[in-house]
Amino acid sequence: MPTEITLPRYMTRFRCIAERCEDTCCAGLKIPVSPSDARRMQPALAAHPAQAEHLRQSAGPESDEGSGQTPFLPMHPDGTCAFLDPQRMCALQRGHGEDALPDVCATFPRVVTARAGHWELSGSLACPEVVRLSLLAEDAMRPESQPFPSPLIPRPEAVRHLSRDPAEGYTFHAESVRAALLRLLDREEHPLATRLALLGQLAYAVDDFYFRGTDAFGEKTRAEAEARLSEALQRFDDPEAREAVHQEFSGLALPGGPCVGLFTSVVKARMAARGGRVRDWGRSVLESLGLEEGGPGDLDAAWSLYTQRWQALNAAQGPRLAQYFHHYVAHFLWRTSFTEFPSLLAYVFRLALRVGLVRLTLTGHPKVVALLEEPSSPEALESLELAVVETVQTVAKHVEQSLEFLSLTKGLVGTGRGAETLGKVLVFASF
Ligand code: SF4
Repeated sequence: MPTEITLPRYMTRFRCIAERCEDTCCAGLKIPVSPSDARRMQPALAAHPAQAEHLRQSAGPESDEGSGQTPFLPMHPDGTCAFLDPQRMCALQRGHGEDALPDVCATFPRVVTARAGHWELSGSLACPEVVRLSLLAEDAMRPESQPFPSPLIPRPEAVRHLSRDPAEGYTFHAESVRAALLRLLDREEHPLATRLALLGQLAYAVDDFYFRGTDAFGEKTRAEAEARLSEALQRFDDPEAREAVHQEFSGLALPGGPCVGLFTSVVKARMAARGGRVRDWGRSVLESLGLEEGGPGDLDAAWSLYTQRWQALNAAQGPRLAQYFHHYVAHFLWRTSFTEFPSLLAYVFRLALRVGLVRLTLTGHPKVVALLEEPSSPEALESLELAVVETVQTVAKHVEQSLEFLSLTKGLVGTGRGAETLGKVLVFASF
């Protein structure tokens, strides 16, 4: 166990806002119940026989021997947890305390990652309060330290440990690679699009020898591989190298209509699968961009509308917008480890795709449309903040983890390596 933890400043400010929350943690999610969760919940379940029976059935007939399927918390037809009471409070927690909760519920929205030699705490953007705190405050992403044990980590035994295998170069060098990514992101003299392109170029520079399962760091070739990695990680510390990428990248012409078609196809699939909040959000975004739920619509016209709005929004609220997206990307680099992806390029591709999706759906948000009609009104900033929080949280909770989005990503990224993947990173970076 560590003696201290690292966390971005916004997590020191996080408090669950419970019944004032515009969403509910458990709404629309499948919450797994591990064998240790089930044991912990056992006394509390006696007071909830219907839910207990549902849970037992969802585990399948052989669960007692540990060979059944993973059970999930029972849900109401509207997608909320069956333990949610009429006051939108958790009946398990209210009646039996936090100890009765499964690990996922006890820790959400906190995410703890044990990295080489230290633990890091961050939040899930599926929680609107985390989105508000992490994107809107200027100092939100500044790293801080706190002593451990900490009440911010109620279940240390459930912490996710990242492997760091000296025999496997990909995980062994992950911390220095991540530091280089964060350094590049902080080069705020370049627009975010260029910084995403730089992340893509860095990933491409190491793509032929630094990936999951590489044998380039074996005994005989380790020195050469480490020298190449070190050179690549420092390459874009040179301002001239960054400027060259910026110049080359700025001249790219994007096939916008097809990208809009890809993004909106996922939004439509989620509207069909989810309903409720997601459907209302998706419908208003599509309508605002002149697209229909039931057909492809004029994608080039939607692309043109998007680019006009994006430019107008930057003219009206450029510095705030830059901060939100800078924090959004920093949050991804902080919270999501690239070693969970087959290659660094696949990781950067996922990041660029997410940024593009959020940008498109943000410009379709009715509050952004209203803001652009009166960009100098006193309510303009508040409207932008509301639109950003709703867009980022909805995308994080209901779109990014969906099968539709994951299969779109998989289909587009292919092997996740090579010049073709870099080309796609650049396309979505410039979106
Ligand atoms: S989503 Fe976040 S703020 Fe809302 S109830 Fe859950 S933890 Fe609290």
